[in-house]
Amino acid sequence: MTNKRFQILQLLGLLLLALLISFNTFATVNLPKHSPVPGGIAVVDLPSSTQPPAVFYRGNRVLVTGSEQTGWHAITGIALKATPGTHHIQLGNGQKIAFNVKPKTYKEQRITLTNKRQVNPAPMDLERIGREKKVMVAAFKHWNDQLTPSLTLLKPVQGPYSSPFGLKRFFNDQPRNPHSGLDIAAAEGSPIQAPAKAIVAATGDYFFNGKTILLDHGQGLISMYCHLSEINVTKGDIVDTKDIIGQVGKTGRVTGPHLHWSVSLNNARINPFLLMPDKPDILESSE
Ligand SMILES: [Zn+2]
Repeated sequence: MTNKRFQILQLLGLLLLALLISFNTFATVNLPKHSPVPGGIAVVDLPSSTQPPAVFYRGNRVLVTGSEQTGWHAITGIALKATPGTHHIQLGNGQKIAFNVKPKTYKEQRITLTNKRQVNPAPMDLERIGREKKVMVAAFKHWNDQLTPSLTLLKPVQGPYSSPFGLKRFFNDQPRNPHSGLDIAAAEGSPIQAPAKAIVAATGDYFFNGKTILLDHGQGLISMYCHLSEINVTKGDIVDTKDIIGQVGKTGRVTGPHLHWSVSLNNARINPFLLMPDKPDILESSE
């Protein structure tokens, strides 16, 4: 081989390598959209390090994704009740990084319930509600770094979106907590699929949420499925993407059969649309 031909081949080889590296870089960067609003996600860039740093926000550990080469990013869930303004995440070494939470106005929803006890629960119900809330909050706060969370969640049931995330709700004209999930209308018995790999964190039959499943996807990414007619999994089960976990129903505080789906990051309920690959353009949750 002549020297010149060798040089050309060498150059081609280098070009191919550069191309492969750039493709690989694109493939590994799979970040959700930076949406720093109440109920949104702040994607905060972290200082470079060989290992992903431990990150905390309001006392909860935060999901960190990336690599030493592409950099680390904190995928921070922002609670619906967050006050707009400057917020901070904190690294394990005490370093603080600021990000700005912008205001967002969500629409109002007025629901009429004939079961008055579901609007103003009896004292005996309150004890049960408190007990169940503890189970759910424990699941939402759980930190599992054995699982690498998928930052893409598939729609768990087929059907139209019937109520968007974030609505300010009034039950029989009384203000209640905002809608911290997304409702999908489907017939009773419709199969519900796991939107990504997970461990079943809890199941139960709760006062407001009815028959419920909580899935732990790892690093504080938790999803919750409510009002089911049937639960097909038990605590500790490992489920893969698209595995059937239960069936749509109308248990708990509902006006008809549907799936209420909540997605949580660092114990903050966020708009599930932010992690879905096909962003639905209908039913925009705010003006
Ligand atoms: Zn709902």
